[in-house]
Amino acid sequence: MSLDNTSHPSVKYCADVVNAKYIHGRPGPELVPSRYAHRVGEIDVLVVSDGVLSLPGAMLGHNVDPAVRAAWLEDMFLPPDVLEWALNAVVVRSGGRTILIDAGIGMEFPDLPRAGKLAQRLQAAGIDLASVTDVVLTHLHMDHIGGLLADGVKERLRPDLRVHVAAAEAEFWESPDFSRVSMPPGFPDALRRAAKRFLNEYHSQLRPFETEYEVAPGVLVHRTGGHTPGHSVVRLASGGDRLTFAGDAVFQVGFEHPDWYNGFEHDPEEAARVRVRLLRELAANRESLVATHLSFPSVCHVAVDGDVFRWVPGPWEY
Ligand SMILES: [Zn+2]
Repeated sequence: MSLDNTSHPSVKYCADVVNAKYIHGRPGPELVPSRYAHRVGEIDVLVVSDGVLSLPGAMLGHNVDPAVRAAWLEDMFLPPDVLEWALNAVVVRSGGRTILIDAGIGMEFPDLPRAGKLAQRLQAAGIDLASVTDVVLTHLHMDHIGGLLADGVKERLRPDLRVHVAAAEAEFWESPDFSRVSMPPGFPDALRRAAKRFLNEYHSQLRPFETEYEVAPGVLVHRTGGHTPGHSVVRLASGGDRLTFAGDAVFQVGFEHPDWYNGFEHDPEEAARVRVRLLRELAANRESLVATHLSFPSVCHVAVDGDVFRWVPGPWEY
């Protein structure tokens, strides 16, 4: 297997490439759906889009021969160079608690102008930040915590907010290892800065857990590691229904090529093992899957297809 060690273009370049494709402009924001309601037994689930991130295509499989990667993108009707990655967060209501799972990227990154919409979209969905009792963070990458650092957000959250994150994740960011990632220029520093700022600003609200924690009835956060040492998924179960929010354990390409390394993975081999284990389990349980970077609204199922997996999009339910 030949490794692709070419450096990535900047995200500003990526955004310009995508924008250039919309020669007649983008559709107006009100024409693009940004929230999707779903139920898991008695648990209310709302997938909310924070927007999209324009990122280098090579990041989705940086251990793969570029020609093989280009062929996959072609097969998927995706552009060869730059992809728009969905950025999904989830709001869950169970047992009188309102739980925000991940928080989008926030407003600190002018080169990623098509994301950072979570606060306004929560408001549009009638969810007041002051009603959120718990935040669960799958990990401390800036596209999952940035929304908590946006201007005015902390002030609107309740003082008794509980923020659940794996103890191993908080510990990792004291001295993070970026030696195995493959990111656009500037990303490692921006990620370090965001995680540090988050840990400072939310220190008193943190509720670290070791392996798993039941945040509310049927809402279990469970540490997987891999993507980052404290990466966690959220398992929902109620009345025989199940759904897992997989955070960054699964990307679009991960069904067909679970062994392709994503550029954001700090331990890519372990991330691939976590991915395969989780996809096998979801296929066996026949439960629903939602993941951060799967196309909105991302509610889908997983099927086994020989040695790999198949993505089965869920029907719209309303
Ligand atoms: Zn992410």
